[in-house]
Amino acid sequence: MVNLLDAYAEVVGQDVIDQLHQLAGTLRDKRVVHVNSTRLGGGVAEILEKHVPLLRELGIETHWEVITGNAAFYQCTKSFHNGLQGKTVNMPNDWLRNFEETNAFNAEQLRPILSDADIVFIHDPQPAPLLRYIPERKGKWIWRCHIDINRPNRVIWRYLRGFVAGYDASIFSLAAFVQPLPHAQYLIPPSIDPLSDKNIDLPEHEIDGVCERFGIDRTRPVIVQVSRYDQFKDPVGVIEAYRIAKHFLPDIQLVLAGGSAADDPEGEAVLAEARRAANGDPDVHILLLPPDAHRTINALQRAADLVVQKSLREGFGLTVTEALWKGKPVIGGDTGGIRLQVIDHHTGFLVNTPEGAALRIRYLLHDRHKIEEMGHKAREFVRENFLITRHLREYLTLMVSVLY
Ligand code: UDP
Repeated sequence: MVNLLDAYAEVVGQDVIDQLHQLAGTLRDKRVVHVNSTRLGGGVAEILEKHVPLLRELGIETHWEVITGNAAFYQCTKSFHNGLQGKTVNMPNDWLRNFEETNAFNAEQLRPILSDADIVFIHDPQPAPLLRYIPERKGKWIWRCHIDINRPNRVIWRYLRGFVAGYDASIFSLAAFVQPLPHAQYLIPPSIDPLSDKNIDLPEHEIDGVCERFGIDRTRPVIVQVSRYDQFKDPVGVIEAYRIAKHFLPDIQLVLAGGSAADDPEGEAVLAEARRAANGDPDVHILLLPPDAHRTINALQRAADLVVQKSLREGFGLTVTEALWKGKPVIGGDTGGIRLQVIDHHTGFLVNTPEGAALRIRYLLHDRHKIEEMGHKAREFVRENFLITRHLREYLTLMVSVLY
Protein backbone atom coordinates (compact mmCIF):
# COMPACT_ATOMS: atom_id res chain seq x y z
CA MET A 1 0.00 0.00 0.00
CA VAL A 2 1.31 3.49 -0.83
CA ASN A 3 2.04 5.39 2.31
CA LEU A 4 0.80 8.92 1.69
CA LEU A 5 1.94 10.37 5.00
CA ASP A 6 5.59 9.35 4.71
CA ALA A 7 6.03 11.68 1.77
CA TYR A 8 5.10 14.64 4.00
CA ALA A 9 7.98 13.89 6.36
CA GLU A 10 10.30 15.29 3.70
CA VAL A 11 8.47 18.62 3.80
CA VAL A 12 7.70 19.03 7.50
CA GLY A 13 9.97 16.55 9.32
CA GLN A 14 9.34 13.05 10.72
CA ASP A 15 8.40 14.36 14.19
CA VAL A 16 5.30 16.01 12.82
CA ILE A 17 4.15 12.77 11.19
CA ASP A 18 4.87 10.73 14.33
CA GLN A 19 2.74 13.13 16.33
CA LEU A 20 -0.18 12.63 13.92
CA HIS A 21 0.02 8.86 14.35
CA GLN A 22 0.14 9.27 18.10
CA LEU A 23 -2.93 11.51 18.22
CA ALA A 24 -4.84 9.29 15.80
CA GLY A 25 -4.12 6.25 17.98
CA THR A 26 -6.91 7.21 20.40
CA LEU A 27 -9.42 7.59 17.54
CA ARG A 28 -8.80 4.30 15.71
CA ASP A 29 -12.20 2.74 16.39
CA LYS A 30 -14.15 5.93 15.64
CA ARG A 31 -16.25 6.73 12.61
CA VAL A 32 -16.07 10.29 11.26
CA VAL A 33 -18.27 11.82 8.57
CA HIS A 34 -17.77 15.11 6.74
CA VAL A 35 -20.74 16.67 4.93
CA ASN A 36 -20.68 19.59 2.51
CA SER A 37 -22.55 20.68 -0.60
CA THR A 38 -20.14 20.16 -3.48
CA ARG A 39 -17.48 17.65 -4.41
CA LEU A 40 -15.82 20.03 -6.86
CA GLY A 41 -14.94 23.68 -6.84
CA GLY A 42 -14.10 26.03 -4.00
CA GLY A 43 -11.94 25.71 -0.95
CA VAL A 44 -14.03 23.25 1.10
CA ALA A 45 -13.99 20.55 -1.56
CA GLU A 46 -10.29 21.20 -2.08
CA ILE A 47 -9.60 20.57 1.61
CA LEU A 48 -11.82 17.51 2.02
CA GLU A 49 -10.37 15.83 -1.02
CA LYS A 50 -7.00 15.81 0.73
CA HIS A 51 -8.05 15.29 4.35
CA VAL A 52 -10.25 12.28 3.90
CA PRO A 53 -7.61 9.89 2.48
CA LEU A 54 -5.03 11.02 5.05
CA LEU A 55 -7.40 10.52 7.98
CA ARG A 56 -8.14 7.05 6.61
CA GLU A 57 -4.46 6.31 6.40
CA LEU A 58 -4.17 7.36 10.04
CA GLY A 59 -6.58 4.54 10.77
CA ILE A 60 -9.74 6.57 11.31
CA GLU A 61 -12.82 5.45 9.38
CA THR A 62 -13.64 8.69 7.54
CA HIS A 63 -16.46 9.35 5.07
CA TRP A 64 -17.30 12.35 2.91
CA GLU A 65 -20.95 12.87 1.98
CA VAL A 66 -22.34 15.61 -0.27
CA ILE A 67 -25.90 16.89 -0.02
CA THR A 68 -27.88 17.60 -3.17
CA GLY A 69 -30.48 20.24 -3.95
CA ASN A 70 -32.32 21.96 -6.77
CA ALA A 71 -31.43 25.31 -8.36
CA ALA A 72 -33.61 27.21 -5.86
CA PHE A 73 -31.71 25.57 -2.99
CA TYR A 74 -28.36 26.83 -4.30
CA GLN A 75 -29.82 30.27 -4.96
CA CYS A 76 -30.96 30.39 -1.37
CA THR A 77 -27.65 29.15 0.06
CA LYS A 78 -25.71 31.58 -2.14
CA SER A 79 -27.82 34.34 -0.64
CA PHE A 80 -26.97 33.02 2.85
CA HIS A 81 -23.33 33.17 1.86
CA ASN A 82 -23.69 36.75 0.60
CA GLY A 83 -25.74 37.73 3.65
CA LEU A 84 -23.28 36.22 6.12
CA GLN A 85 -20.52 38.16 4.38
CA GLY A 86 -22.47 41.33 5.14
CA LYS A 87 -24.68 42.01 2.11
CA THR A 88 -28.35 42.87 2.21
CA VAL A 89 -30.15 39.99 0.50
CA ASN A 90 -33.62 38.94 -0.44
CA MET A 91 -34.88 35.84 1.31
CA PRO A 92 -38.40 34.87 0.22
CA ASN A 93 -40.22 32.42 2.51
CA ASP A 94 -40.53 29.76 -0.18
CA TRP A 95 -36.71 29.69 -0.48
CA LEU A 96 -36.45 29.01 3.24
CA ARG A 97 -39.13 26.32 3.03
CA ASN A 98 -37.25 24.69 0.15
CA PHE A 99 -33.96 25.00 2.09
CA GLU A 100 -35.42 23.14 5.05
CA GLU A 101 -37.23 20.54 2.93
CA THR A 102 -34.04 19.85 0.97
CA ASN A 103 -32.18 19.28 4.20
CA ALA A 104 -34.99 17.04 5.50
CA PHE A 105 -34.74 15.00 2.29
CA ASN A 106 -30.95 14.72 2.54
CA ALA A 107 -31.25 13.78 6.19
CA GLU A 108 -33.41 10.82 5.17
CA GLN A 109 -30.78 9.70 2.67
CA LEU A 110 -27.88 10.13 5.09
CA ARG A 111 -29.63 9.00 8.28
CA PRO A 112 -27.96 5.56 8.52
CA ILE A 113 -24.44 6.97 8.36
CA LEU A 114 -25.01 10.21 10.27
CA SER A 115 -27.05 8.87 13.17
CA ASP A 116 -24.42 6.29 13.93
CA ALA A 117 -21.21 8.33 13.42
CA ASP A 118 -18.98 9.24 16.36
CA ILE A 119 -18.19 12.66 14.92
CA VAL A 120 -19.99 14.57 12.16
CA PHE A 121 -18.44 17.66 10.62
CA ILE A 122 -20.99 19.81 8.81
CA HIS A 123 -19.36 22.34 6.52
CA ASP A 124 -20.92 25.78 6.03
CA PRO A 125 -24.61 26.77 6.08
CA GLN A 126 -25.92 24.57 3.26
CA PRO A 127 -26.23 21.34 5.31
CA ALA A 128 -26.51 23.05 8.74
CA PRO A 129 -30.17 21.97 9.37
CA LEU A 130 -29.36 18.23 8.95
CA LEU A 131 -28.90 17.90 12.71
CA ARG A 132 -32.49 19.00 13.37
CA TYR A 133 -33.79 16.07 11.30
CA ILE A 134 -31.58 13.48 12.98
CA PRO A 135 -32.48 13.90 16.66
CA GLU A 136 -31.48 10.31 17.48
CA ARG A 137 -27.81 11.03 16.67
CA LYS A 138 -25.25 9.15 18.68
CA GLY A 139 -22.06 11.19 18.17
CA LYS A 140 -20.82 14.74 18.44
CA TRP A 141 -21.77 17.21 15.73
CA ILE A 142 -19.48 20.07 14.80
CA TRP A 143 -20.35 22.97 12.53
CA ARG A 144 -17.37 24.10 10.46
CA CYS A 145 -17.84 27.62 9.11
CA HIS A 146 -15.49 28.56 6.26
CA ILE A 147 -17.12 31.92 5.61
CA ASP A 148 -16.10 35.40 6.70
CA ILE A 149 -18.83 36.14 9.26
CA ASN A 150 -17.17 39.09 10.86
CA ARG A 151 -20.19 41.32 10.25
CA PRO A 152 -23.06 39.10 9.14
CA ASN A 153 -26.45 40.31 8.00
CA ARG A 154 -28.29 39.93 11.33
CA VAL A 155 -31.52 38.51 9.93
CA ILE A 156 -29.71 35.75 8.04
CA TRP A 157 -27.46 34.89 10.96
CA ARG A 158 -30.38 34.76 13.41
CA TYR A 159 -32.14 32.28 11.14
CA LEU A 160 -29.07 30.06 10.66
CA ARG A 161 -28.07 30.32 14.29
CA GLY A 162 -31.31 28.50 15.10
CA PHE A 163 -29.83 25.42 13.39
CA VAL A 164 -26.25 25.87 14.49
CA ALA A 165 -26.96 26.39 18.21
CA GLY A 166 -27.81 22.69 18.62
CA TYR A 167 -24.31 21.56 17.63
CA ASP A 168 -21.72 20.41 20.15
CA ALA A 169 -19.04 22.78 18.88
CA SER A 170 -18.18 24.99 15.95
CA ILE A 171 -14.98 25.85 14.14
CA PHE A 172 -14.05 29.19 12.59
CA SER A 173 -10.96 30.17 10.64
CA LEU A 174 -10.14 33.18 12.79
CA ALA A 175 -11.11 34.87 16.04
CA ALA A 176 -12.86 37.77 14.30
CA PHE A 177 -15.55 35.35 13.00
CA VAL A 178 -16.53 33.88 16.36
CA GLN A 179 -20.22 34.38 17.25
CA PRO A 180 -22.21 34.17 20.48
CA LEU A 181 -23.14 30.48 20.51
CA PRO A 182 -23.98 28.17 23.42
CA HIS A 183 -21.11 25.75 22.77
CA ALA A 184 -17.33 25.55 22.44
CA GLN A 185 -15.83 27.38 19.48
CA TYR A 186 -12.49 26.38 18.01
CA LEU A 187 -10.19 28.36 15.76
CA ILE A 188 -8.61 26.32 13.00
CA PRO A 189 -7.34 28.04 9.89
CA PRO A 190 -7.39 25.93 6.71
CA SER A 191 -4.33 24.64 4.89
CA ILE A 192 -2.92 23.46 1.60
CA ASP A 193 -1.41 20.17 0.55
CA PRO A 194 2.17 20.76 -0.64
CA LEU A 195 2.17 17.44 -2.52
CA SER A 196 -1.03 17.91 -4.49
CA ASP A 197 -1.12 18.70 -8.20
CA LYS A 198 -2.07 22.25 -7.23
CA ASN A 199 1.09 22.84 -5.22
CA ILE A 200 3.80 20.40 -6.21
CA ASP A 201 6.94 21.72 -7.95
CA LEU A 202 6.55 21.81 -11.71
CA PRO A 203 9.17 21.61 -14.44
CA GLU A 204 9.78 24.93 -16.22
CA HIS A 205 8.73 23.47 -19.57
CA GLU A 206 5.28 22.69 -18.18
CA ILE A 207 4.87 26.28 -16.95
CA ASP A 208 6.03 27.54 -20.36
CA GLY A 209 3.55 25.21 -22.05
CA VAL A 210 0.60 26.50 -20.02
CA CYS A 211 1.55 30.14 -20.72
CA GLU A 212 1.90 29.41 -24.40
CA ARG A 213 -1.51 27.74 -24.46
CA PHE A 214 -3.15 30.91 -23.11
CA GLY A 215 -1.01 33.41 -25.05
CA ILE A 216 0.78 34.71 -21.94
CA ASP A 217 4.20 36.19 -22.68
CA ARG A 218 6.69 35.06 -20.04
CA THR A 219 9.23 37.69 -21.05
CA ARG A 220 6.88 40.37 -19.67
CA PRO A 221 5.56 40.79 -16.09
CA VAL A 222 2.55 38.66 -15.20
CA ILE A 223 0.06 39.37 -12.41
CA VAL A 224 -2.33 36.56 -11.53
CA GLN A 225 -5.51 36.24 -9.51
CA VAL A 226 -7.03 32.76 -9.20
CA SER A 227 -10.63 32.79 -8.02
CA ARG A 228 -14.14 31.65 -8.66
CA TYR A 229 -16.04 34.39 -10.48
CA ASP A 230 -17.66 35.80 -7.39
CA GLN A 231 -18.38 39.43 -6.52
CA PHE A 232 -16.46 39.15 -3.24
CA LYS A 233 -13.30 38.21 -5.16
CA ASP A 234 -13.63 41.60 -6.90
CA PRO A 235 -12.32 40.70 -10.38
CA VAL A 236 -13.39 44.11 -11.67
CA GLY A 237 -11.35 45.79 -8.93
CA VAL A 238 -8.34 43.74 -10.00
CA ILE A 239 -8.78 44.91 -13.59
CA GLU A 240 -8.96 48.51 -12.36
CA ALA A 241 -5.75 48.05 -10.37
CA TYR A 242 -4.06 46.57 -13.45
CA ARG A 243 -5.21 49.54 -15.57
CA ILE A 244 -3.76 52.06 -13.14
CA ALA A 245 -0.49 50.13 -12.86
CA LYS A 246 -0.26 49.80 -16.64
CA HIS A 247 0.18 53.57 -16.97
CA PHE A 248 3.56 53.13 -15.31
CA LEU A 249 4.34 49.59 -16.48
CA PRO A 250 3.03 49.31 -20.02
CA ASP A 251 4.37 45.75 -20.37
CA ILE A 252 2.31 44.11 -17.63
CA GLN A 253 -0.22 41.38 -18.26
CA LEU A 254 -3.09 40.31 -16.03
CA VAL A 255 -4.42 36.78 -15.75
CA LEU A 256 -7.75 36.13 -14.03
CA ALA A 257 -8.07 32.38 -13.75
CA GLY A 258 -11.27 30.95 -12.43
CA GLY A 259 -14.08 28.53 -12.76
CA SER A 260 -17.36 28.09 -11.06
CA ALA A 261 -18.27 25.85 -8.16
CA ALA A 262 -21.17 23.42 -8.57
CA ASP A 263 -23.02 25.15 -5.71
CA ASP A 264 -22.49 28.72 -7.00
CA PRO A 265 -25.21 30.05 -9.35
CA GLU A 266 -23.80 33.59 -9.70
CA GLY A 267 -20.56 32.81 -11.54
CA GLU A 268 -21.74 33.57 -15.05
CA ALA A 269 -22.92 37.09 -14.28
CA VAL A 270 -19.67 37.98 -12.51
CA LEU A 271 -17.63 36.51 -15.38
CA ALA A 272 -19.60 38.61 -17.90
CA GLU A 273 -18.96 41.71 -15.79
CA ALA A 274 -15.22 40.99 -15.72
CA ARG A 275 -15.19 40.53 -19.50
CA ARG A 276 -16.94 43.86 -19.93
CA ALA A 277 -14.40 45.55 -17.68
CA ALA A 278 -11.50 44.03 -19.65
CA ASN A 279 -13.00 45.53 -22.79
CA GLY A 280 -10.98 43.42 -25.21
CA ASP A 281 -7.55 44.37 -23.79
CA PRO A 282 -5.22 41.69 -25.24
CA ASP A 283 -3.05 41.82 -22.10
CA VAL A 284 -5.95 40.81 -19.86
CA HIS A 285 -6.46 37.06 -19.97
CA ILE A 286 -9.74 35.97 -18.46
CA LEU A 287 -9.66 32.20 -18.25
CA LEU A 288 -12.54 29.90 -17.51
CA LEU A 289 -11.02 26.67 -16.29
CA PRO A 290 -12.57 23.29 -15.55
CA PRO A 291 -12.73 22.41 -11.85
CA ASP A 292 -9.94 19.87 -12.07
CA ALA A 293 -7.38 22.17 -13.73
CA HIS A 294 -5.08 21.91 -10.71
CA ARG A 295 -1.78 21.69 -12.58
CA THR A 296 -2.82 24.55 -14.85
CA ILE A 297 -3.53 26.75 -11.84
CA ASN A 298 -0.27 25.64 -10.26
CA ALA A 299 1.59 26.65 -13.46
CA LEU A 300 -0.15 30.03 -13.64
CA GLN A 301 0.67 30.79 -10.01
CA ARG A 302 4.29 29.85 -10.68
CA ALA A 303 4.41 31.92 -13.87
CA ALA A 304 3.25 34.98 -11.92
CA ASP A 305 5.66 37.68 -10.85
CA LEU A 306 3.06 38.71 -8.31
CA VAL A 307 -0.20 37.23 -7.13
CA VAL A 308 -3.20 39.35 -6.27
CA GLN A 309 -6.19 38.31 -4.15
CA LYS A 310 -8.15 41.51 -3.90
CA SER A 311 -11.14 40.00 -2.09
CA LEU A 312 -13.64 42.28 -0.38
CA ARG A 313 -14.52 39.48 2.09
CA GLU A 314 -12.64 36.23 2.49
CA GLY A 315 -13.13 33.33 4.90
CA PHE A 316 -9.53 32.28 4.46
CA GLY A 317 -8.33 32.37 0.85
CA LEU A 318 -6.58 29.14 -0.04
CA THR A 319 -5.38 30.81 -3.21
CA VAL A 320 -3.31 33.14 -1.04
CA THR A 321 -1.63 30.21 0.73
CA GLU A 322 -1.03 28.49 -2.61
CA ALA A 323 0.72 31.56 -3.99
CA LEU A 324 2.78 32.19 -0.85
CA TRP A 325 3.93 28.56 -0.89
CA LYS A 326 5.20 29.12 -4.43
CA GLY A 327 7.33 31.99 -3.17
CA LYS A 328 5.10 34.74 -4.55
CA PRO A 329 4.36 37.88 -2.53
CA VAL A 330 0.60 38.42 -2.43
CA ILE A 331 -1.20 41.73 -2.74
CA GLY A 332 -4.36 40.89 -0.86
CA GLY A 333 -7.58 42.58 0.22
CA ASP A 334 -7.33 43.73 3.83
CA THR A 335 -10.07 41.41 5.04
CA GLY A 336 -10.86 38.13 6.80
CA GLY A 337 -8.43 35.25 6.47
CA ILE A 338 -6.14 37.16 4.12
CA ARG A 339 -4.95 39.12 7.16
CA LEU A 340 -3.68 35.90 8.73
CA GLN A 341 -1.51 35.19 5.73
CA VAL A 342 -0.44 38.45 4.17
CA ILE A 343 1.81 39.99 6.78
CA ASP A 344 1.98 43.54 5.51
CA HIS A 345 5.44 44.37 4.12
CA HIS A 346 6.72 40.83 4.86
CA THR A 347 4.80 38.23 2.88
CA GLY A 348 2.96 40.79 0.74
CA PHE A 349 0.79 43.87 1.07
CA LEU A 350 -2.73 44.41 2.36
CA VAL A 351 -4.79 46.81 0.26
CA ASN A 352 -8.25 48.35 0.38
CA THR A 353 -8.67 49.89 -3.06
CA PRO A 354 -7.67 49.32 -6.70
CA GLU A 355 -5.40 52.36 -6.32
CA GLY A 356 -3.68 50.77 -3.33
CA ALA A 357 -3.22 47.51 -5.21
CA ALA A 358 -1.79 49.38 -8.22
CA LEU A 359 0.67 51.22 -6.00
CA ARG A 360 1.97 47.93 -4.57
CA ILE A 361 2.15 46.27 -7.97
CA ARG A 362 4.23 49.18 -9.21
CA TYR A 363 6.47 49.16 -6.14
CA LEU A 364 7.22 45.45 -6.29
CA LEU A 365 7.72 45.19 -10.03
CA HIS A 366 10.32 47.93 -9.73
CA ASP A 367 12.21 46.00 -7.05
CA ARG A 368 12.93 42.39 -8.03
CA HIS A 369 15.11 41.91 -4.98
CA LYS A 370 12.15 42.72 -2.73
CA ILE A 371 9.97 40.22 -4.58
CA GLU A 372 12.53 37.53 -3.95
CA GLU A 373 13.02 38.43 -0.29
CA MET A 374 9.27 38.53 0.40
CA GLY A 375 8.72 35.35 -1.60
CA HIS A 376 11.20 33.49 0.57
CA LYS A 377 9.53 34.67 3.76
CA ALA A 378 6.16 33.75 2.28
CA ARG A 379 7.13 30.13 1.66
CA GLU A 380 8.58 29.64 5.13
CA PHE A 381 5.53 31.27 6.71
CA VAL A 382 3.30 28.72 5.00
CA ARG A 383 5.59 25.84 5.96
CA GLU A 384 5.22 26.83 9.62
CA ASN A 385 1.52 27.63 9.66
CA PHE A 386 -0.63 26.56 6.77
CA LEU A 387 0.29 23.08 5.58
CA ILE A 388 -2.11 20.16 5.78
CA THR A 389 -0.14 18.43 8.53
CA ARG A 390 -0.81 21.30 10.98
CA HIS A 391 -4.46 21.25 9.96
CA LEU A 392 -4.78 17.49 10.51
CA ARG A 393 -3.11 17.80 13.91
CA GLU A 394 -5.66 20.41 14.98
CA TYR A 395 -8.60 18.33 13.74
CA LEU A 396 -7.29 15.28 15.58
CA THR A 397 -6.80 17.29 18.76
CA LEU A 398 -10.30 18.69 18.47
CA MET A 399 -11.78 15.21 17.93
CA VAL A 400 -9.98 13.90 21.00
CA SER A 401 -11.16 16.87 23.04
CA VAL A 402 -14.85 16.58 22.08
CA LEU A 403 -14.94 12.81 22.57
CA TYR A 404 -13.03 12.35 25.81
N1 UDP B 1 -9.75 27.01 -7.61
C1 UDP B 1 -9.69 26.12 -8.67
N2 UDP B 1 -10.16 26.53 -9.87
C2 UDP B 1 -10.66 27.77 -10.07
C3 UDP B 1 -10.72 28.68 -8.98
C4 UDP B 1 -10.25 28.25 -7.75
O1 UDP B 1 -9.22 24.99 -8.53
O2 UDP B 1 -11.05 28.07 -11.18
C5 UDP B 1 -9.25 26.56 -6.32
C6 UDP B 1 -8.16 27.43 -5.74
O3 UDP B 1 -6.90 27.08 -6.29
C7 UDP B 1 -8.31 27.15 -4.27
C8 UDP B 1 -9.81 26.95 -4.11
O4 UDP B 1 -10.30 26.58 -5.40
O5 UDP B 1 -7.66 25.95 -3.93
C9 UDP B 1 -10.50 28.24 -3.70
O6 UDP B 1 -10.40 28.39 -2.34
P1 UDP B 1 -10.44 29.82 -1.66
O7 UDP B 1 -10.37 29.59 -0.19
O8 UDP B 1 -9.37 30.70 -2.24
O9 UDP B 1 -11.82 30.45 -2.10
P2 UDP B 1 -13.34 29.90 -2.10
O10 UDP B 1 -13.61 29.51 -3.52
O11 UDP B 1 -13.44 28.76 -1.14
O12 UDP B 1 -14.12 31.11 -1.69
